[in-house]
Amino acid sequence: MGGLFGKQAMTYQHQANVLIIGGGLSGTMLAAQLLRLPGQRRILIIEPRAELGRGEAYSAVELGHTLNGNAARMSVDPDNPDDLTQWLTAHIAAGGWPESAEQDVPVNELFPPRGLFGAYVQQRLAEARAVGALQGSTVEHIRAEVVDLQIDSGSVQLTLSDGQRLQGSQTVLATGMFPAARTPQTQSSGLNAAALDPWDVAAMRELDPQSTVLIIGSGLTMVDAVVSLEQAGHRGPIEVFSRHGLLPHVRRQPPAWVDFLGDDHSLRTPRQLLRELRRQCQVAITQGIDWQAPLDTVRVHIARLWSQATDQQRRQFVRHVRPCWESHHHRSPPLSAALVERLYKEGRLRIQAASFKGLEPSPDGGVRIRIRRRGESESCVVQGAALINSSGIEYDWRRVARPLPQQVLARGLVQPGPLALGIAAAVDGAVLDAEGCAADRLFAMGPPLRGMWWESTAVTDVALQAKALAVRLAG
Ligand SMILES: Cc1cc2nc3c(=O)[nH]c(=O)nc-3n(C[C@H](O)[C@H](O)[C@H](O)COP(=O)(O)OP(=O)(O)OC[C@H]3O[C@@H](n4cnc5c(N)ncnc54)[C@H](O)[C@@H]3O)c2cc1C
Repeated sequence: MGGLFGKQAMTYQHQANVLIIGGGLSGTMLAAQLLRLPGQRRILIIEPRAELGRGEAYSAVELGHTLNGNAARMSVDPDNPDDLTQWLTAHIAAGGWPESAEQDVPVNELFPPRGLFGAYVQQRLAEARAVGALQGSTVEHIRAEVVDLQIDSGSVQLTLSDGQRLQGSQTVLATGMFPAARTPQTQSSGLNAAALDPWDVAAMRELDPQSTVLIIGSGLTMVDAVVSLEQAGHRGPIEVFSRHGLLPHVRRQPPAWVDFLGDDHSLRTPRQLLRELRRQCQVAITQGIDWQAPLDTVRVHIARLWSQATDQQRRQFVRHVRPCWESHHHRSPPLSAALVERLYKEGRLRIQAASFKGLEPSPDGGVRIRIRRRGESESCVVQGAALINSSGIEYDWRRVARPLPQQVLARGLVQPGPLALGIAAAVDGAVLDAEGCAADRLFAMGPPLRGMWWESTAVTDVALQAKALAVRLAG
């Protein structure tokens, strides 16, 4: 035994209390919460990106890539809903974000650029670091990808892409979302290689401004891509294809509405819920009130409704309600929505309900895709100068072609979550292994828990989970 311990002491250079895998919003907010709790702890965040707190969402460089909710809705402090508004007020007063004046609304109603939101998250981490330092707690950023994870009775061991190995008492999977385009299924269709990254602003500037651009997917990522195209000077046609041809609605600021789900727990099945929601929206409209008001009261109940539903009910929701839910619930920031609407009215942007069937050879350059329009039996080919893939997120870890998801599945340390969305976990975030046993050293938060709570990605979800998980880990 002594020899084994001696070998481990040499191999595992870093010993930590908490190893956080992924330094996006989730991992960073978890670290910030841990630093503020009593006790001395060493926290390591393993994140390949140069900066913590950003991930894909908050690395945005385009000013027009804004949050999809206003400042009043996007605090990372569950105890202070005005936290972002207060930070922004000080930031603007100090000369930051001068373009905010163009929105001509109070600070709490501003939709900040996501890159700026990343700076806010980083500042909150820096402040938490200062608080933690008073009791000897630290956070270090290790720039690498975790490629393997093992657990024994006494510790967790991580293997990193650079060969380094880390050891800790507890570890948290804060690995975020995996883009659908990077999965083997779409790779095999060649889509990944042929399509532009929807956030690659530089690539959009390279396009012929009058050329036709094809976009697959019509959600908020498409909206970002259209903003970038416009900003890059593109003035040609934009053809958008998505299965249902639905665009996100614009986010308005509806007044408060009675919490009809809080009062009535008998509403359970997707059909009952939808019927009641429609009725409430109709009542609102009749009273001259925005239909978004009743819709927004549903938000706080989603986790409860999803977790108490049967798999069959969840499947019904995904199959029949999801497309409509996504376009009504994940709404577009007003400035971006106005741009999409203008291009649509000018006839420059067309949206078609059609499913993507694959790529076709394009000997003359550009890109050719095969699609099948909704209601038609035959597919057809559409040609453009460039293709943007904004078809979404891969939540099924079995299809994510990254080493860590593959390894933890193969080792039986995790099991797929309900409907194979992310991974299964207990209420406190403890990951369930292949046998269904809750781990005492392995936890998860954010998008990997999509299957447990359905909505597990937005800023408010992540902020609440970070606080609760920090208390759990510290306890
Ligand atoms: C483009 C976009 C815009 C969004 N806009 C909004 C919005 O306006 N409002 C809102 O409420 N929500 C929004 N969201 C949702 C939500 O806020 C984000 O998904 C949030 O970033 C989730 O944080 P995360 O840290 O869990 O995941 P991510 O931000 O995806 O970060 C995960 C990190 O983990 C790292 N990682 C992954 N695997 C490993 C590994 N094996 N080893 C080490 N590191 C690893 C990745 O490099 C990444 O940086 C948006 C999401 C996206 C993608």
